[in-house]
Amino acid sequence: MTRKAVMAGNWKMNKTWAQAVVLAQSISNLSEKDWDALDVVLCPPMVDIKAVNSVLEFDNTPIALGAQNVHFEPEGAFTGETSVDMLKDVGASYCIIGHSERREYFAETDEAVNKKAAALLAGGLTPIICVGESLAIRDEGSYLEFVGNQVKAAFAGFEPAQVSKCIVAYEPIWAIGTGRTATPEQAEEVCAHIRSVIAELAGQETAVGIRVLYGGSMKPANVEGLMAQEDIDGGLIGGASLVAEDFADLVKACL
Ligand code: PEP
Repeated sequence: MTRKAVMAGNWKMNKTWAQAVVLAQSISNLSEKDWDALDVVLCPPMVDIKAVNSVLEFDNTPIALGAQNVHFEPEGAFTGETSVDMLKDVGASYCIIGHSERREYFAETDEAVNKKAAALLAGGLTPIICVGESLAIRDEGSYLEFVGNQVKAAFAGFEPAQVSKCIVAYEPIWAIGTGRTATPEQAEEVCAHIRSVIAELAGQETAVGIRVLYGGSMKPANVEGLMAQEDIDGGLIGGASLVAEDFADLVKACL
């Protein structure tokens, strides 16, 4: 089975409204019609999503929008939070959840990731579920078990049909924003393991069809080796997604 590749840019807490418009416009200018062969997704800060959506809609580009977080409740007294419907309303069709920065700095738990994934699916958005181990866990040797447990927790109580609509991003924490990329073999080992855990949870068909991404200092210089791996279907890109030419090169590497 050939899986459609995904290249998603996580802009994190970078870019004011005007800067976001400039970056989106630069990426849009570099985009080509054949980019619709994969799913290209920009995930700007929450306050920039609407403006970026206007740029992409005006240019009619084959680029989709995502958010970097969501709340699992539909509405109510949750100061500072954003609901699935609100994301939909400003044009987002994807949402990153469980990013290691949110797990570490904002106490996002496996249980919250599970609830967020369910809420996003119910609203018709695609969750991009991040998992990944710290350097201590990698060095200690239990990284496959650790990441496998994160995957199991994220999908707890899900039907195979729900699992298959999600994207999983393997992001070793030691490789995020550090310039230290996992080798293609290291990334492939964990991405293949994620697929085998999904096979146990939701069956072989779901495991074969689900998209599994790698994230962690992915850039034009290392994308080829990573994308050549059987179980890596694309990338979740931080730093390199803030440079239009680099992000465009990453997309082109998937064509
Ligand atoms: C990320 O934060 O999702 C990420 C992969 O960042 P970077 O590409 O900068 O390592």
